[in-house]
Amino acid sequence: MQKQARVVVIGGGIVGCSVLYHLARAGWRDVVLLERQELTSGSSWHAAGSLFTLTRPNIAAALQLHSFRSYREIERESGQPVGFHLTGGISLCRSEDEVLSHQMLQSACRRLGIESHFLSPEEAASRCPILDPGRMIAALWEEEGGHVDPASATQAFAAAARKLGAAIERHTPVRATRPRADGSWDVVTDRGTIHAEHVVNAAGLWAREVGRMAGISLPLMPVEHHYLVTETIPEIARLGFELPQINDNEIGCYARQEGQGLLFGAYEGRCTHWSKEGTPADFGHELLPDDLSRMDWNFERAVEMMPCLATAGIRRVINGPMMFSPDLSPLLGPHPALRNYFCANGVMTGFNQGPGVGKVVADWIIEGDPGMDVMAWDVARFGDWAQGAFTEARTRYFYEHRCERGYPGQEIEAGRPIFPTPVQDRLAAAGGVFGFSFGNEHPNWFADRPGQRDTLSYRQPNWWHPVADEGRRIREAAGLMEFSALAKFAVEGPGAEAWLDRILAGRIPAAGRMALCPMLTPQGRLAGDLSVACLAPGRYLVLGSDAMQLAFQRRFDSALPAEGVRVSNLSATLAGLHLCGPEARSILAEVALADLDNWHFPFLSAASLTVAGVPDVVVLRVSFTGECGYELYMPRDSQPRIFDAILGAGRTRGLGLAGSRSLMMTRLEKSFPAWGPELSADYTPREAGLMRHLALEKGDFTGRDAVMSDPPMRERIATFSVDAGADAVWGGEAVFLDGEAVGYVTSGGWGPFVGEHIAMGYVLPDAWQPGAAYEVEVLGRRRAAALRPRPVYDPEGTRMRA
Ligand SMILES: Cc1cc2nc3c(=O)[nH]c(=O)nc-3n(C[C@H](O)[C@H](O)[C@H](O)COP(=O)(O)OP(=O)(O)OC[C@H]3O[C@@H](n4cnc5c(N)ncnc54)[C@H](O)[C@@H]3O)c2cc1C
Repeated sequence: MQKQARVVVIGGGIVGCSVLYHLARAGWRDVVLLERQELTSGSSWHAAGSLFTLTRPNIAAALQLHSFRSYREIERESGQPVGFHLTGGISLCRSEDEVLSHQMLQSACRRLGIESHFLSPEEAASRCPILDPGRMIAALWEEEGGHVDPASATQAFAAAARKLGAAIERHTPVRATRPRADGSWDVVTDRGTIHAEHVVNAAGLWAREVGRMAGISLPLMPVEHHYLVTETIPEIARLGFELPQINDNEIGCYARQEGQGLLFGAYEGRCTHWSKEGTPADFGHELLPDDLSRMDWNFERAVEMMPCLATAGIRRVINGPMMFSPDLSPLLGPHPALRNYFCANGVMTGFNQGPGVGKVVADWIIEGDPGMDVMAWDVARFGDWAQGAFTEARTRYFYEHRCERGYPGQEIEAGRPIFPTPVQDRLAAAGGVFGFSFGNEHPNWFADRPGQRDTLSYRQPNWWHPVADEGRRIREAAGLMEFSALAKFAVEGPGAEAWLDRILAGRIPAAGRMALCPMLTPQGRLAGDLSVACLAPGRYLVLGSDAMQLAFQRRFDSALPAEGVRVSNLSATLAGLHLCGPEARSILAEVALADLDNWHFPFLSAASLTVAGVPDVVVLRVSFTGECGYELYMPRDSQPRIFDAILGAGRTRGLGLAGSRSLMMTRLEKSFPAWGPELSADYTPREAGLMRHLALEKGDFTGRDAVMSDPPMRERIATFSVDAGADAVWGGEAVFLDGEAVGYVTSGGWGPFVGEHIAMGYVLPDAWQPGAAYEVEVLGRRRAAALRPRPVYDPEGTRMRA
């Protein structure tokens, strides 16, 4: 066995073989995969192999499409048949809400050109004659659906990788992974040690054990999953064509043709975890004892839809373990705590996603960048808080609700709370209805009665009007928001300014000032929308989006010089509050005992002040709502005192509590893009309209060369007013011009002051035409929309500077 490699991939399931193949295809020949037994010795050998492309979020749809289209190619390249069947897929809708959910899905997938159309029940039954049309109200047809033989597909990726020069060592369990001081790794096996530049953990069911060898704990837990294969079914044997892939999400079931019978699988209403603490080392090509009684509920309902199932004999039952993450999505990319250690874990639908995952992970290793926005799948989206009970509760929830439709703004309660805010009780008593972000609780809105919860709707849920009321209060008087969830870093030292100047694209503010400073990838795409406040020379507070905390930390760590700069992650130690509105200044002035007029503390000022008797509270004059606003950061234990003082001072000035949803709605009126929906690594600063925040003249910084090379704009950010009536625009909706899909909505909502539906999104540059007659596809109906080249509220920005 070789002693050196650029990359060692641990694990020979579909994911590891795909990573190896994509590395080799990109020209990296000195790469080796180590497999402890035979290839496919985890979940991969017993999967059902079903494939579909209509899915959310965008990254999943993009990578499932890549996977789907790769099977024919890999068959050709490897010479190994993969049993690929292109049958199309059919998703059944038993209820009105399921239709609405699928209309939203169809619209969102137009962005990638995924072809789908609705069928009447009769049309559905003619394409899939085993269905009872009386049991559904519609169905959504996707062209690119089908299935593949899992073991053959895995072998094909392995064979194609070998042909390209990659090595595969079977019966070679990895016993240890040891980092060296230079960031490389020793990968220890019974057959010797390989010194590698990079390690990829693709150990599937054993990802936790392999992770522990490197000292990391991955938030993963295996669950049992069943499917059965029937004997020949006469109704199917008589058909002259193959049945499509069937999804009956409302009863948690899927089915496809297998021979002349059916393969039928179900996500039962009761999750059974397997090997919670660790996967046995000797588990391999084995199955778990089956218990079909767990499927009874699903099966009975499936028989109503597919009556031929009732009398079908059962040929084979498969009950196997599969690895779940706390949000069902893979954990990919460089682990934030380690150097040159990549995760390719938690891929729960490996034949749909594995080939795409292999491409992303290989690109990430080779280019230092995955080439697209992968935040929803980045291993850095979970911190140490996502362990044990949280992972158990979330994996249970997502198994039991695996196929259920999601609703806009839907919050998952399982596993919470982890980090309540220091004023949690006060907020709850005031009717706070909470959301969850990177382990933190934060109020989304305030109900008029404590204990109220969100209703789930594709139209206007119960919080629609209360959130609009909060937004109007912010416009007319003042709102106070809990603001602790943000990522917060102290950057200090004599080299701090020069270092920030180099890694951020904006102008670094002078002492007492703050600035919005985008961070770019070397390829010139957005890596963060950070706010930088200079509290004193060499002393900065850097703030960014909550969920990006460890992704930022990873970027900072990789660029940190040996001396002169200290970066400390203060996200968990500092709490935050945000006060905004025309009365905000007078309220804060009362509790801060400071001159906050525009002469002493103008827009974008930063200072450490004593607030409510608490010294050294960081106060930033900044606005995301478009009103005069202040962010305050303080030690967690002093947040209640400041909170009470501000509420007290605001009592006579119309101050009310406001949640993060009113922040997101008011910022739509200002066309302020938000990290996640509008701003991500999918876009360049030019596409996102952020060029005014770049300091191109300041000299070299990460991403400058790419920006200066002036790549063509692929899309352009846009704001629309939408005539959506009693419906709502949420994000994902396709935008049409002259009957052609020319863009998509990234986020939408209600402008509380202007009283109209507002959507932000992207359109093709040529389709950015003020005055043109656009349409936005809202729940299957095209609604008139108008491009708003300027913010619909206070376009000059006078109020936030006032
Ligand atoms: C019943 C069932 C049905 C399914 N149906 C579908 C479906 O229809 N469509 C779909 O897309 N997905 C399906 N899946 C999911 C799919 O099987 C998994 O997503 C996929 O197999 C995961 O692949 P993997 O490569 O990540 O992990 P695994 O297949 O678990 O592979 C990991 C490999 O790593 C090796 N390994 C572990 N530790 C070490 C070590 N220390 N040293 C060396 N090697 C090591 C193991 O031996 C193993 O071969 C199904 C799963 C189940 C259980």
